[in-house]
Amino acid sequence: MSHVSLGLPRVGAPGEAVVDEDDPGRATGPLRDTFGRVATDLRISLTDRCNLRCTYCMPAEGLDWLPADELLTLAELTRLMRIAVMDLGIREIRFTGGEPLLRRDLPEIIAAAAALEPRPELALTTNGLGLARKAPALAAAGLNRVNVSLDSIDRAEYAEITRRDRLQDVLDGMAAAHDAGLRPVKVNAVLKPNLNAADAPKLLQYCLDHGYELRIIEQMPLDAGHDWQRSTMITAAQTRAVLGEKFALTKATEPRGAAPAQRWLVDGGPATVGIIASVSEPFCGDCDRTRLTADGQLRNCLFAREESDLRALLRGGATDDQIARRWRASMWAKRAGHGIDDPGFHQPDRPMSAIGG
Ligand code: SAM
Ligand code: SF4
Repeated sequence: MSHVSLGLPRVGAPGEAVVDEDDPGRATGPLRDTFGRVATDLRISLTDRCNLRCTYCMPAEGLDWLPADELLTLAELTRLMRIAVMDLGIREIRFTGGEPLLRRDLPEIIAAAAALEPRPELALTTNGLGLARKAPALAAAGLNRVNVSLDSIDRAEYAEITRRDRLQDVLDGMAAAHDAGLRPVKVNAVLKPNLNAADAPKLLQYCLDHGYELRIIEQMPLDAGHDWQRSTMITAAQTRAVLGEKFALTKATEPRGAAPAQRWLVDGGPATVGIIASVSEPFCGDCDRTRLTADGQLRNCLFAREESDLRALLRGGATDDQIARRWRASMWAKRAGHGIDDPGFHQPDRPMSAIGG
């Protein structure tokens, strides 16, 4: 088996770092790592708070929020985004959370990002609650696209997964985003056995009918309860089989690049469905991401065990150059893969809601 199919970086042999005696990747230039990957996609979590309680992400209750004074402010975010875009070669910024729509200054944050040169592509991952009202202002501020998380169009299933009865708000939010030009609206879904998995074709049909692009992602071990089990995860292959009962899926031929979703033409196309096999067919070898938590901690991977404290640098009077160097050093230390299959795998302490999906 080649190292690419294992999801390991393409440069060098499996697990083998690119040898770079002078380590220039850490001192200047873009965000490189020792495996030759370059990070151009920045994911910023804007808050750890959320108005849903999805079972694969948050506990039903009892999760402490970050204290308000630990969250990065608009001015701090603006500075970090400027360093990321102008010094470190970031080309796309995605705002996530927790629920990013809960940040009242979201339009200002988006506008600050849109003012950067070269202008980055700006995307938002949201659960869609409140999007119906906010979509026009976000589009006007410079947002390009949204991903809305929706696991089922069955009201009872939706309420069971998210622990809140808010399906209609999400559907209204997606329609408003589409109308505001935030297209293509992408829909993110996680499937659970004996819950919404069998209804995945209905969700796909809904997306096809409304011009949305569905992407189904394997559940990863990032739940607050640390209850994830591989044996109960719906795999990408199982997803293809369920959808295949109602639709003819043919693999799209375009190269996937750093995109995590393998796209499939639905009934010959042009509509597609994306299936993201983060666990069963990892794509770490093509990863182009760097992540910032709401409290200003830099993570070089969703599954990183270490973080770099950019907030302390920001608040301690560091120069842009010092911050850029710390950022490069963090990415330089990025591991080859997420290691979920390693015997010594440890789930990160923070749940997905506090890392930023
Ligand atoms: N609250 C927003 C939302 O739900 O879209 C943004 C944050 S949420 C953490 C981002 C994405 O992560 C969502 O699409 C959600 O379905 C996904 N997610 C959360 N926990 C996950 C897990 N354990 N495995 C896979 N995806 C997960
Ligand atoms: Fe909230 Fe998003 Fe996590 Fe659901 S997946 S609990 S909407 S942060």
